[in-house]
Amino acid sequence: MVDYDVIIAGAGTGGSTAAYTLAKRGHSVLLIDRKERYNIGNKTCGDAIGSHHIIELRELTGIPELPKGIVEYDVNGIDLIAPDRDHRLRMEGPTTTGMSFNRLKMGQWFVGQAESAGVEVLASTRVKKLLFDDGKVSGVKVSIEGGPDKDYTARIVVDATGATGVLRMQMPETSPIEQQIASEDRMVAWRDIYETPDFEFETPDYLEIFWNQDETLGGYTWVFPQGKHRVNVGNGVMTIEGHRNPKDIQYDFVKKTWIDTWGEIKVLDSSGGVAPIRRPIDTMVDDNFMLVGDAACQVNPIHGGGIGSSMLGGAHAGIIASEALERNDTSIESLWPYNPRYHKSYGMKQAALDIFRWFLLNITNDDIDFAFKKQIIKASDLLDTSMTGEVKFGAGEKFKRLVAGFGKIPLLLRVSKVAGLMNDIRAVYARYPDSPKGLAAWKEQLVPIYETAKVA
Ligand SMILES: Cc1cc2nc3c(=O)[nH]c(=O)nc-3n(C[C@H](O)[C@H](O)[C@H](O)COP(=O)(O)OP(=O)(O)OC[C@H]3O[C@@H](n4cnc5c(N)ncnc54)[C@H](O)[C@@H]3O)c2cc1C
Repeated sequence: MVDYDVIIAGAGTGGSTAAYTLAKRGHSVLLIDRKERYNIGNKTCGDAIGSHHIIELRELTGIPELPKGIVEYDVNGIDLIAPDRDHRLRMEGPTTTGMSFNRLKMGQWFVGQAESAGVEVLASTRVKKLLFDDGKVSGVKVSIEGGPDKDYTARIVVDATGATGVLRMQMPETSPIEQQIASEDRMVAWRDIYETPDFEFETPDYLEIFWNQDETLGGYTWVFPQGKHRVNVGNGVMTIEGHRNPKDIQYDFVKKTWIDTWGEIKVLDSSGGVAPIRRPIDTMVDDNFMLVGDAACQVNPIHGGGIGSSMLGGAHAGIIASEALERNDTSIESLWPYNPRYHKSYGMKQAALDIFRWFLLNITNDDIDFAFKKQIIKASDLLDTSMTGEVKFGAGEKFKRLVAGFGKIPLLLRVSKVAGLMNDIRAVYARYPDSPKGLAAWKEQLVPIYETAKVA
């Protein structure tokens, strides 16, 4: 006899959505978070999300509309800005309309929805250890603030502890789940939220992303207004060899270039954070065990947004776990369909964008300025690619860009090679195995493509 059908470690957007989905289907769920109940959702974030994620989530789970108080400002598009700051691409489309929101209220709403659906929430409680029975996951050991450690058992345990992946790291060496995330696949970031009484943002409904390889190699600076006199501003960098500390970048480059131009400012919040930046974990399930959200690396590798995809991951995991529980079979084979389901909705695109990430790491400010100026890269390409991870140029369009890009042919050839690799990886994901037996052979097809991408 177990204590719960499912125990979920971490009540962020991923864990809360999985919990909500399962409880709505009649399962008993314990959702545990180390934060105090009133503080769940409080997190370093750019506080922006595309509406398409919320719409997809509603279709999958039937979760109600986000209440008005959560949304701070509607977003109508994103401006991508070249290092020279003279050239920009305005992206306006289904993936770039959305909202900036109050992070704490958003988190509170999600965990509240789970609670109303019947989930038992255990806050101020740290999940310390995975428990095993006969070599298979069987529950968790927790430490409750001010009390003794306690064990809880369940038929399925979900790790939704965010970027740390506390439980993923405790899976045995024999598990097909990767325990560690390479340092080159992480982003570290710093962000501040300011009121700017002296400065008015002219178009607060457009978010701005600035590239500058000399300052934020492979990452970017964001300036996300949250109204005419309020802004969320930060920067993130990949933790590759020689990377700079984003806090130093913030109070040097970002301060000089943006913050100092806003006159007197009032600091509302200031903190750092980490996110995994790569394709999703190759298998997000093992016997009686699942991964959701940042713990499963379900983050967009280009812009680091992961709230929408963690909710999608949570919904897909919840649906598959529910079906497995109903069959009374929570083995890896039975939970396996979560992998292809997630890949189809988001993982395949993530994997292709992971290729593009390496390209962005390997080009110079000069290359980016040139590509923006000569329109070798257009907003419509980036919109298409950000929607599907696919890169499509017709023959005529290829020729036009070849003419425009004359003078930087090697760069053009690299763009074309990267586009090919992105399409190759999509094809590999379309062949994702339908059982764990095919995983090792499938992974062998991935490796050479990523190795080529790293130096393309
Ligand atoms: C600086 C920064 C800016 C970002 N900006 C954006 C943005 O603008 N838009 C966007 O979509 N995404 C953004 N992201 C990414 C986004 O925040 C994450 O992808 C998303 O929150 C992942 O949700 P999650 O539920 O997986 O994890 P989290 O939201 O991190 O939730 C994990 C939960 O687990 C709990 N937990 C951790 N360890 C334990 C433990 N041992 N025991 C119990 N509980 C535990 C934590 O308290 C937390 O509540 C940003 C990330 C960073 C770092």
